[in-house]
Amino acid sequence: MIRNFLQRFMYGRYGSDALSFFLLGCYVVLYVLSLLTGWDILFLVGDVLILWGLFRILSRNYERRRAENAAFLRLAGPFIRWFKLRRCARRDPDYCYFTCPQCKQMLRAPKGKGKIHVTCRSCGTVFEQKT
Ligand SMILES: [Zn+2]
Repeated sequence: MIRNFLQRFMYGRYGSDALSFFLLGCYVVLYVLSLLTGWDILFLVGDVLILWGLFRILSRNYERRRAENAAFLRLAGPFIRWFKLRRCARRDPDYCYFTCPQCKQMLRAPKGKGKIHVTCRSCGTVFEQKT
């Protein structure tokens, strides 16, 4: 019953994306900081961010929301890729993770093989990598 209501309510609306999750994360961080420091301005800024995120999720203007998310991913993309690379390297200690210098595709090779020639699976670029 509630699920059907939510499905009907969200029909035709944009929904969540990376920027929405980022805004939600900023809200949580600012909320915790406002509790720790007692600065109400952080709470107000967090409220503005969460309202912006809700507006984006409930919006019916797909093109505008996609353009905003694409602009956000252009800015945050290198940080997101770096964070994912660090996370993979931490979870899989037997492999060395690196990116292709041409297309930035994430690649991996076994550790301890010395300097090797790597051929990127995406673009075919051949480069040397120390593992
Ligand atoms: Zn490549």
